[in-house]
Amino acid sequence: MVSLVIVSHSGALADGVAELAREMGGEEVAIESAGGMEDGAIGTDAERVRAAVERARSPDGVLVLMDLGSALMSAEMATEMLEPDGGPVVLCGAPLVEGAVAAAARARTGASLDEVAREARGALAMKTAQLGEETPEAAPADAPADDGGGADALELRLHVTPRLGLHARPAARFVATVADFDARVEVRNATRSTGPADGRSLTALAVLGVRQGDEIVVRAQGEQAAAALDALDALAAANFGDEPDGEAAAEDRPAPAEAPAGSAPPASGTQLPGVAASGGIAIGPARWLHTPEPAVDDEQPGSPAEERARLDAARAAARQDLETARAEVLRRGAVAEAEIFTAHALLLDDAAVTGPAVRMVEDGAGAGQAWRAAVQDAAAAFRALDDPYMRERAVDVEDVGRRVLARLAGTDAAAAPLDAGIVLAPELTPGEAVGLDPAQAWGIATARGGATGHAAILARALGIPAVVGAGAGLLGIPEGTPLALDGDAGILEVDPGEDVIASYEARREAAVEAGRALLAGAAEPGALRDGRRVEVFANVGSAADARPAVTQGAEGVGLLRTEFLFLDRDTPPSEDEQVEVLREIAEALDGRPLIVRTLDAGADKPLPFLSQQPEDNPFLGRRGIRLSLAEPELLRTQLRAVLRVAAERPLKVMFPMVATLEEVRAARAALERARAELGSEAELDVGVMVEVPALALQAALIAPEVDFFSIGTNDLAQYTMAAERGNAALAGLLEDSLAPVLALIANVTAAAEAHGRWVGVCGELAGEPEAAVLLAGLGVRELSMAAGRIPAVKAALRDVEFAAAAERARLALPAR
Ligand code: PEP
Ligand code: MG
Repeated sequence: MVSLVIVSHSGALADGVAELAREMGGEEVAIESAGGMEDGAIGTDAERVRAAVERARSPDGVLVLMDLGSALMSAEMATEMLEPDGGPVVLCGAPLVEGAVAAAARARTGASLDEVAREARGALAMKTAQLGEETPEAAPADAPADDGGGADALELRLHVTPRLGLHARPAARFVATVADFDARVEVRNATRSTGPADGRSLTALAVLGVRQGDEIVVRAQGEQAAAALDALDALAAANFGDEPDGEAAAEDRPAPAEAPAGSAPPASGTQLPGVAASGGIAIGPARWLHTPEPAVDDEQPGSPAEERARLDAARAAARQDLETARAEVLRRGAVAEAEIFTAHALLLDDAAVTGPAVRMVEDGAGAGQAWRAAVQDAAAAFRALDDPYMRERAVDVEDVGRRVLARLAGTDAAAAPLDAGIVLAPELTPGEAVGLDPAQAWGIATARGGATGHAAILARALGIPAVVGAGAGLLGIPEGTPLALDGDAGILEVDPGEDVIASYEARREAAVEAGRALLAGAAEPGALRDGRRVEVFANVGSAADARPAVTQGAEGVGLLRTEFLFLDRDTPPSEDEQVEVLREIAEALDGRPLIVRTLDAGADKPLPFLSQQPEDNPFLGRRGIRLSLAEPELLRTQLRAVLRVAAERPLKVMFPMVATLEEVRAARAALERARAELGSEAELDVGVMVEVPALALQAALIAPEVDFFSIGTNDLAQYTMAAERGNAALAGLLEDSLAPVLALIANVTAAAEAHGRWVGVCGELAGEPEAAVLLAGLGVRELSMAAGRIPAVKAALRDVEFAAAAERARLALPAR
């Protein structure tokens, strides 16, 4: 029988996927996981993968499924290290979770390695079919032709009763039942006229789109055809193995409902399991988060025109609040997470909410009433969806809705301040999460919510341990109750005994100790094992960030995002004001280099004091250097400030969003004009950010005209994949961007080397330890990242010699 190996950067993820797949494959299918590094850190390790494959080795073959990036490389290296003659091993490009589940179900039927691999590759069809999206691939190629109804075929018609139709688990039971018989079985969905599908293929069954109440026609041929149909009949009579009351299987159930008010407190020592949303240990008293529901006082609404104006003004004020929240998250170095609030700003204009609200206002409703009703409807529509990820979006809609209601009521949506401890809430919104101060909020536990909720993502960015979806039992916990929370295991313990507390404290201490060891190593200069220097810098957004960055081991600042000086104000900052702030940051760095990026505003980050035309595609619009060149006075003032500080401190300057040589020349000319005006002789290296693929491809043309390149992988990935970086639905595309983005970077490092220039990377990729090694292997000499990532990146660099890093990078480039 074919066996499986699951490779992931995360040990917990690999184990979890293996566990899920075992549900489908049963005891018979050997499934091994190879996740994380030897010491439990995130990463992939070829030796661990090799060992897992050897454990799973079978003459029928091993199918290896991987998550992303270096997992592929580790798996490739592992296969090169395998003992010969142990049976075939296939690395499969299927999506990890869906592929593993489909492959396990198929392997159980005794299918060949080829068949199992094909099943895995077609596995996304299950999800797309359930969501009613376009199916990217046809049913697996081994689905039977429409010939299963030969003269000797037996036929059975079944009604599908499970609440979610033939979803993953009932379908897997169907496949497993078929596998027990020597019969060829095919299935058609008579209600929706889809099929036929191979009864042994989970994916093919999913593509039939069988919903509750549908009728399916099952045809069987072969020696045991009659017995197979009998067994399927019995399975259908048992609601396909789902709970008889029509409840969905546990993993498909909506989040636990809120307990009735006054629910009983859980007994001392109760463990409440939930979803591990953000790692770490927290011990402290329960602190309930109270966010007041904004009052809606619309008893005597004004005229429709007045109410419409009130609503628009409240939405505008909420937009400002979201910009402040976004800036706050950016200030903490969490660039990708900050995009959550960009997405929230889009919700403010979402026609699904504004349309009904405006119609109600036109019919005479007050602004508050109308907005609240429209938000409730939109949130309810999200909550009713089957997909857990989409269900999480209900909280986002409500969060944005509450901001507008608060503004209508003349307040903001902030929660009451908390005493220090573990924050409890029925469900946490992104707005609430960003309002938490990690010094007071030692941990977070919620009754509802999942790991893909934006609040969970923000908790990770803020470094607060969190367990979400711990169930209604949490709601009965009285304020002040002692709690212990394990954010890695996803467990909240209520009033635990002293020995339990002691064991949590010991684990917390061990984690702190490991962090200390990393931090101690971070004081060393960044370098590979053979001593080749790779400077490790921090990205900062203000003077307040610069000092702690140095403590984390920053050897300088590789990206100062100057936007913070310009947003949230009615007039542009003066030259003196800019000089003062730059000087303050440079002083905090105490002689370390500082790379200042000129203003990267644009239509997606509008400047309140500039009137800009709305654009259909702001990310493709007038942003970065395009805007600066169109607003010469703004650029002149900024460049004068930069030059003045460069006369005293080691400064460099770089321009964002450059696409052409003409832009480079125009920007440099602006700098030279400012220099001439000031009579400045300050030394100032000039670089460009590589965020637009066109620039990466023309690096050889640009290199003679700049001193350095700094690669902004956040934008470079979005423009390479044509996938907006803040759009969660496109996250998969961005995950697939590594190979093409590395290819563009390789073009830049080659051109830079040929002209004696250096290359840095200041996008998020630089802060991922394994990616940092690949970048160093491509010849990148400086990596700049959120300060918290520096210790782990320096440790990863120290672990590898340049030749090995270069080889890994070579393998990570697109195949030629
Ligand atoms: C980038 O695009 O990678 C980058 C560093 O710039 P920002 O994230 O500020 O757009
Ligand atoms: Mg950018």
